[in-house]
Amino acid sequence: MDITEVKIFRKDTSDKKLKAFATVTFDDCFVVRDLKVIDGTKGPFVAMPSRRMKEPCQGCGHRNVVRSKHCNNCGKTLEVRTNVSRQDEHKDIAHPITLAFREVIQKAVLDAYDSGSNYTHTKNPSSDKPSDAGSGGHVPPVDDAF
Ligand SMILES: [Zn+2]
Repeated sequence: MDITEVKIFRKDTSDKKLKAFATVTFDDCFVVRDLKVIDGTKGPFVAMPSRRMKEPCQGCGHRNVVRSKHCNNCGKTLEVRTNVSRQDEHKDIAHPITLAFREVIQKAVLDAYDSGSNYTHTKNPSSDKPSDAGSGGHVPPVDDAF
């Protein structure tokens, strides 16, 4: 399986560790969104898309994210469960199951991130015609600030 396109959505927020989101296309036919470029202590790495786990409030049943101190619906103070590990807080939505392919994804995303481009074709560069630039609203926003 090949990565055919990487889109980088740079972040400019107070969250210094989260540098960018990435959308990756595989074989021109399958897209995974919300990969993250994280500035780790040993250099940038790519985190797979994930969602925060939720658990129901004991009072009203409203599902709050794990480790919430109060229910978002009724305000009840929630028991902080100590048996929930950091790893259990987030569940990957999509992820590679081989180390080799994880490295393929990470390299493609970090190469795109390092290139300074927001939009990278790793295959078929000829399909990225300049005439596409003015074709409508689905072109990713370009950061003109720099
Ligand atoms: Zn509640």
